[in-house]
Amino acid sequence: MDTEKERLGIYGGTFSPIHSGHVKAAYAFLDTMALDRLLVIPTAIPPHKAPVEGASAADRIEMARLAFCDGEAYKSGRLVVSDYETTLEGKSYTVYTLEHFASPECELYLLVGTDMFLTLDRWYRAEEIFRLADIVLMRRERDAVNFPLIRQKSAEYRERFNARIHEIDEPPIVVSSTELRKRLCGRCGIDGLIPEAVVRYIEENDLYR
Ligand code: ATP
Repeated sequence: MDTEKERLGIYGGTFSPIHSGHVKAAYAFLDTMALDRLLVIPTAIPPHKAPVEGASAADRIEMARLAFCDGEAYKSGRLVVSDYETTLEGKSYTVYTLEHFASPECELYLLVGTDMFLTLDRWYRAEEIFRLADIVLMRRERDAVNFPLIRQKSAEYRERFNARIHEIDEPPIVVSSTELRKRLCGRCGIDGLIPEAVVRYIEENDLYR
C-alpha cells in the first residue's frame, strides 16, 4: 500500500432502485478498505443487462443521493454519487470509467457483488480492469453455496490477470432490485429493504408501477 496515494473506491450499478444491500455494501467498502473517497456511479446502459424499465437515469441518480445524503460520509464529501456514466453517450463500460478516474496519485478499488465477481473475466477488456483496480468482493448471499466457485475464480484471476482481490468480511443484506421492482409493481411491502427517503421518492414519482 502506498500511503501517499488517495484510495479511491468505485461502486457501479444499475441501482434501480438502490436498496439496503447496496447501502450496506457501500459503507462496508468505505470502512474495510479505508477509502479516502468512494464514488457511487449509477450506470447508463449496463453492457451485460437489458435496460430496466420504470426509472430514468435521473431518477436512479436522485435515489442514490437520497439513500446516502443523511450519512456523515456523504456530508463530508467522502462518499459521492456521481453522474459520470449517465451523462456519457451510449453504453458505459467499467474499463472506461476506471481509465477516466485512474491517475498516478490514486489507487483504484472496484467493488462488486458475487454475481458480478463471478463473470468479471468476461467483461469488456477484463485484463485492463484487473490492471487498473484492486477488486473488492462483497458477497450478497448468506449461505456458502458459492464458496467453491469464488475460490476457483479468485485463483484463476490471480493466475491469469495477476489480480489483486480483497473480500469484505461482513454479512450482506440479501435482497435484489429485481425482487423489489416486482414487489413495488404488485404494491407488496418492501420490509425496510429500501431507505425511507427512496421509498418516498418512488411513491411521489410513481416509479416501477
Ligand atoms: P438487479 O436485480 O436489477 O440485477 P441488483 O440488486 O443486482 O439489481 P445492481 O444495481 O445490479 O443491483 O448491483 C450493483 C452492484 O451491487 C453489483 O456489483 C451487485 O453484485 C451488488 N449488489 C447487489 N445487491 C447486493 C447485496 N444485497 N449485497 C451486496 N452487493 C450487492
